[in-house]
Amino acid sequence: MSQLLFQGVEGETDRTREIICKLPGQTAAGAPGLASETGDSTKPFPESDKLHEECGVVAIHGHPHAARQAYLALYALQHRGQESAGIATADGQHLANIKGMGLVSEIFTDDVLDKLPGPMAIGHTRYSTTGDSALLNAQPIRVDSTKGLIAIAHNGNLVNLGNLRAALERDGAYFQTTSDSEIIVQLIAHSTAATLVDAIAESLAKVDGAFSIVMMTRDRIFAARDPRGFRPLSMGRMKNADGTQTIIFASETCAFDLLRAEYLRDVLPGELVMVTEDGATSRQYSTGVKQTSCVFEHVYFARPDSRIFGRWVQESRDQMGRQLARESGVPADVVVPVPDSGVTAALGYAEEAGIPFRMGLIRNHYVGRTFIEPEQRVRDFGVRLKLNPVHNLLEGKRVILIDDSIIRGTTSRKIVRMVRGAGAREVHLRISCPPTISPCFYGVDTPSKSELIAANKSIEEIRHFIEADSLAYLSLDGLLKSVQDEKKTGYCTACYTGNYPTQWVDVEDVLPATAAI
Ligand code: SF4
Repeated sequence: MSQLLFQGVEGETDRTREIICKLPGQTAAGAPGLASETGDSTKPFPESDKLHEECGVVAIHGHPHAARQAYLALYALQHRGQESAGIATADGQHLANIKGMGLVSEIFTDDVLDKLPGPMAIGHTRYSTTGDSALLNAQPIRVDSTKGLIAIAHNGNLVNLGNLRAALERDGAYFQTTSDSEIIVQLIAHSTAATLVDAIAESLAKVDGAFSIVMMTRDRIFAARDPRGFRPLSMGRMKNADGTQTIIFASETCAFDLLRAEYLRDVLPGELVMVTEDGATSRQYSTGVKQTSCVFEHVYFARPDSRIFGRWVQESRDQMGRQLARESGVPADVVVPVPDSGVTAALGYAEEAGIPFRMGLIRNHYVGRTFIEPEQRVRDFGVRLKLNPVHNLLEGKRVILIDDSIIRGTTSRKIVRMVRGAGAREVHLRISCPPTISPCFYGVDTPSKSELIAANKSIEEIRHFIEADSLAYLSLDGLLKSVQDEKKTGYCTACYTGNYPTQWVDVEDVLPATAAI
């Protein structure tokens, strides 16, 4: 049974409240079961050498059980963040908010969902580093502003935070969190615009960076994307039993499938959509900015069964694999994906190259976020918990291994060693995107440039480090060709090029390593 902390707000009824949910054995700072640094045998599960998406968002308007619909949608978006989740609901009068550390299914039991009444909901699932601020910064964030109660959930990262925050504090703003979302709410609260929707539009025009946002007041839902459209956000609808319709927004369309909702369209870059009892209205709060949607959503983050930026992710990954085979084919006996994210590209590669596709590595899907470490450390233990080779598929074979990225190189080396240890005669690693040479400032948790192996070593040096027989990446042109559609969507490729679409970057983070990794 979860422990619930009730944070009453002065002057509000019991139903207009925020609840922060902790799971048993959990501190405010960490996920369930996290160990201290002092020798507890229960350790956080070792993170793979992957980049992390920071968030997924949903919004529901016009459903008798909005909280339960938001729960299902967040469940489908769990891959976008596993550290904390939250749902806020409104019933026209009150606004309730519950959030906690852990997985969506761990936080939102039947009892907890019963505390979230109303036909409107917004929800959020977040990846975050553990730290004192982790639970405090879980979303949605609810702020009692001069414009009334507002709940907000946000995917992305603002890049002009410092200036905005300082100016707001000079104006008397008091911040409860260090979250980007609160900056937006404070801008709205301090706006002199006559209406709430004008205040939101004015505030969004002042912030720079990546944001796909859902917001809720006691009686309205808002959804917006930043002018460059970095992060995805789609709109859908479903018919209710009484003939009315529910409007849904979600980071990815896979959330619509679980709700049996129909995909309507993407929220456009620079667009603000408002949904009330009278229906949906839209305005462009920003125009004329070049679209730079995150290409890495297609490479790795989004689920292959989602349609993002108007294009099926599965189709993009298949094309990446095919293009990779055309660009850097090598004689081999089998094509083996690094599961799960390398599977679709490997299928495309295998078909294009005419080489059999084999699941030569099996992923353990039941590994939790904690594990009991064996008394003696086993070499490559962390990777072995997650992946295991299928010896009879690999033994004596020339293997083409397909993965979606190399970040520090350490995990890739372990996987190459694992495949070779299972008897592979040759291991050729192929990566379905260009070398990652620069950190992301738009909502993806990346190491600094000094830790990115491709920023500091040549491809031949990386090949030597990971102990592969050959190594090749997809070219930038090949990647852009693989994600292109008739709409000619513009993409951000800054982590592969260092060319950032916004002016602001953190100088420290983009310095290369002075010494070899
Ligand atoms: S820098 Fe890379 S991960 Fe970040 S938004 Fe651009 S393409 Fe996506």
